[in-house]
Amino acid sequence: MVSTEAAVVIESSVPSPVAASVAAAAVAVAVEVEAIKTTESMLTNLDLETVSVLDFDKGDPTMYEAYWKSIGEDFEITISASQALSYFANPKSFCWFMLPKLEQKIRNLHNLVGNAVVEGRHIVVGNGSSQLIQAALYALAEPLDPPSPISVVSATPFYSCYPQIADYVRSGLFKWAGDAHAYVKDAPYIEMVTSPNNPDGELRGPVVNKANGMLVHDLAYYWPQYTAITEPVDHDIMLFTVSKCTGHAGSRIGWAIVKDPDVAKRMVKFMEISTIGVSKEAQLRAISILEMISTNSCPSNFLGFGQSVMAERWKKLREALKGTDVLQVPDFPPQHCNFKRDYNECHPAYAWMKAQEGLNLEEVMKEESIRVRGGGTFGCPSNYARLSMLGRDKDVDLLLKRLPSILKRLAH
Ligand code: PMP
Repeated sequence: MVSTEAAVVIESSVPSPVAASVAAAAVAVAVEVEAIKTTESMLTNLDLETVSVLDFDKGDPTMYEAYWKSIGEDFEITISASQALSYFANPKSFCWFMLPKLEQKIRNLHNLVGNAVVEGRHIVVGNGSSQLIQAALYALAEPLDPPSPISVVSATPFYSCYPQIADYVRSGLFKWAGDAHAYVKDAPYIEMVTSPNNPDGELRGPVVNKANGMLVHDLAYYWPQYTAITEPVDHDIMLFTVSKCTGHAGSRIGWAIVKDPDVAKRMVKFMEISTIGVSKEAQLRAISILEMISTNSCPSNFLGFGQSVMAERWKKLREALKGTDVLQVPDFPPQHCNFKRDYNECHPAYAWMKAQEGLNLEEVMKEESIRVRGGGTFGCPSNYARLSMLGRDKDVDLLLKRLPSILKRLAH
């Protein structure tokens, strides 16, 4: 029930990593159960639509459930008790815990979509791209043996989990240093470049551009559902995840495409120390799913499904906001998408909303029982907030019904 993003937020608020994070998780579950009880008792007397709290805070990709349900049981994956016991998946490979078939499916998918260069590059599988972010920070900072932690920066609005990922274990190798635009030191630094960006959907490049900088490209959303695929990108470290590609966030499978073999080896070392690799069950599931979407063995085209759902949601949201300036979302000029071989409107995974200066948009939305993530967590003022576009249809419909009353509240 608790998404990675949520889990990271919960963990960040407690001082002692292990015991306290367990306690925090327990508290979170208790709070959640309590909230459900309260809502249920209220629902006995009141209209469901007026009291239920809608969660548009987390980037939980449940919109894809509808597609995978429509596929039915033909694609069930069965793993016998005798299968996949060993820690090892490919002892001869530097990434010894990655099933060779998974590597092959990842390469095939990138070649099909044309979003990243994989030829001659090293693939490292991880427990979601969240773990690979940590692995990449370790792999870049470790050989420098820095006298003080290396700065990790990202341009605002930045992905809200970067500060916590960088600082949670108080590493001596790296530490969060905030907005990349404000980075002026001459010391080595690591810049997280998120493209398309979470939360604002922009296709981005690095902003610091100093000689001693190291880059990690987080490309979780560089898929045709969300943006135009303008080129096969080819950066030093590129991170992807099934969470936002196929919607299987619960499988916790991400991968890195890495140019430098030594960096790739250090990332593998990090994975070895932290989790001794990645679940084979999860890898087997990912193999089947990636094969389905890249060979189009599904009854209907998966990426086409994602594109049409996102397009429809953005169309409805823009219609609902038409003629008002009290709540604004960014516009994206159509760009040529090499995958679609046509001009593609961008339909980001999040709506980055802006209200009048001085307002606390998260609080205003909360008063209407809509949970969104406030601008502060992205390094921005509180008149900004992020609304996830990745939830279930029924919640999006309820949100659209509540929007007029939110707009009225914002206008006063
Ligand atoms: N990077 C970005 C930009 C994200 O939005 C997310 C998920 N919200 C992640 C990384 C982590 O994804 P996961 O760990 O599920 O692969």
